[in-house]
Amino acid sequence: MGKSSKGINIYFLVIAILLLITVWVSNMSEQTDSYTRGEFIEQLEKGEVVYVEIHPNAEVPTGTLLIQFKDNSKKTLHVSDVVAMQELLTTEYQIDPMVEDVPQENWFLSDILPILLILIFGVFMFAMMNAQNANSGGGGKMMNFGKSRARVSTGGEITLKDVAGLREEKEDMEEIVDFLKCPCKYTKVGARIPKGVLLEGAPGTGKTLLAKAIAGEANVPFFSISGSDFVEMFVGVGASRVRDLFAEAKKNAPCIVFIDEIDAVARKRGTGMGGGHDEREQTLNQLLVEMDGFGTNEGIIVMAATNRVDILDPAILRPGRFDRKISVQTPDVGGREEILQVHAKDKPLAEDVDLKQIAQTTAGFTGADLENLLNESAILAAKEDRAFIVQEDIKKAFIKVGIGAEKKSRIISDKEKKITAYHEAGHAILFHVLPDVGPVYTVSIIPTGLGAAGYTMPLPERDEMFNTKGKMLQDIMVSLGGRIAEEIIFDDITTGASSDIKKATKVARAMVTRFGMSENIGVINYDESDNEVFIGRDLAHTRSHSEEVAGAIDKEVKSIIDECYAKAKSIIMEHEKVLHSCAELLLAKEKITRQEFEALFEC
Ligand code: ADP
Ligand code: MG
Ligand code: ZN
Repeated sequence: MGKSSKGINIYFLVIAILLLITVWVSNMSEQTDSYTRGEFIEQLEKGEVVYVEIHPNAEVPTGTLLIQFKDNSKKTLHVSDVVAMQELLTTEYQIDPMVEDVPQENWFLSDILPILLILIFGVFMFAMMNAQNANSGGGGKMMNFGKSRARVSTGGEITLKDVAGLREEKEDMEEIVDFLKCPCKYTKVGARIPKGVLLEGAPGTGKTLLAKAIAGEANVPFFSISGSDFVEMFVGVGASRVRDLFAEAKKNAPCIVFIDEIDAVARKRGTGMGGGHDEREQTLNQLLVEMDGFGTNEGIIVMAATNRVDILDPAILRPGRFDRKISVQTPDVGGREEILQVHAKDKPLAEDVDLKQIAQTTAGFTGADLENLLNESAILAAKEDRAFIVQEDIKKAFIKVGIGAEKKSRIISDKEKKITAYHEAGHAILFHVLPDVGPVYTVSIIPTGLGAAGYTMPLPERDEMFNTKGKMLQDIMVSLGGRIAEEIIFDDITTGASSDIKKATKVARAMVTRFGMSENIGVINYDESDNEVFIGRDLAHTRSHSEEVAGAIDKEVKSIIDECYAKAKSIIMEHEKVLHSCAELLLAKEKITRQEFEALFEC
């Protein structure tokens, strides 16, 4: 339970107590008493009454009598006419009652209490809203509900030196840095500097880092806000935050306004269901208005980052808005080495660590992955009380980062182990034999944290821009290898291959529907998964092709898989000896290296 919900409980308690008090106060004047007028008269006749006090009500002439008897007991009686009662007492019974003043109306009940309640309600609402606000991150007060919430940092800590690789990206940004340093140089010759720069690239490629570094390099204030900060429960808040953000930025020009994950606000408009996205649209509109609003050379550069350019509203990419688009690529070998060097700076490495070699074996890793890899290695080193990182740490971390940590403690039956050994051997043989995939880095039957019973890890040797048809077919074959080995050896199959099958099917389907690699279907895109983010659209969406085409696609996918299956099976059969020896070795050692595996082919 969160802190705020506890707070809310206390408010409810206070309100409950106040309600009780109100009820009690208003009941006070109506004590129930079964004493009747008849009994009173009777006791008057008997002469038992010694003293009477009359308390008139605010609504004259009603009132209450306080009666004292000879035995000192007291009783109250409500009467409808105190004046008549007073007359009766003085004339008939010679009792001179003591008459109290008519009370003022109960000011507490009639005036103060309602005001008090309203006040308390107001405070309560206020507190609720504050709790809301604090919940959603900013810790802000109600007063600055519509304030921008941007975090400002004056650049300086991070500079372009800290951004490794990304050579072209940095070059592209150079003029912007220069402009921020000295705007007048550009305004003098009438040059128009882009107002908006959109950084686009996979998560972890260093977009946020690059934006920060530019502010640091130019030494200007850096206003950073995340797209999701704009999207709030209350309509209009996002828009007012945008307004506030730009007002603030104008005061501090030259500066950088950085909107991280802009896709949260700048999705294509009109894609929501049931108009529930008014708030986001308003925010986006306000953003566009603000960007159009300031002059070209006011010294504000708006930078934004996203990993989904395809879902951004086209209006945002128009000239005068985010007209400069920089795509931040996942690093190549050289870039990876540089990034490793940057992050290895404060980590002592043993002499056997070869960053170049690590860079070569980490194709596809982003900057964040590499940073993570070195960090995991450092943790492993620290665990063993070593003051430096050795190659072995990095190897272990590589498997941990890529596959998930091995779980040696899990107990597996021998039968299961044997099946897994053959399954992995099947994958490994295909990796080794097929020309465009592999080679094998490790094969293991130690279960991983991700629920796999074992793994075969290839060593990607090249950075590839695109896949070829041949390689995709080989990928499918490798995926099927595990299942095929099970089938050959055990005459029975297990459920363990389900994720392999899923992967193979996905590749085959992509070949047919996206890459035009099937002759029967042709070079047409039938893939609709691009639109999957737009739930609203999807529901209203009808398939763009006929049932017949859908059927033909399914048939084509099946024939690709069948063909791959047959080919892969014959390859594994050819190397049945290796299959057995590999499985045996795996059962003995649980994990074998590339050398050990490749040696099996030689005998
Ligand atoms: P993104 O915003 O693209 O998702 P980040 O900029 O947040 O990625 O990067 C996450 C982390 O990864 C950074 O803090 C940094 O440690 C590391 N990193 C990513 N790219 C680089 C790079 N080119 N040079 C150095 N470190 C990098
Ligand atoms: Mg980021
Ligand atoms: Zn498998």
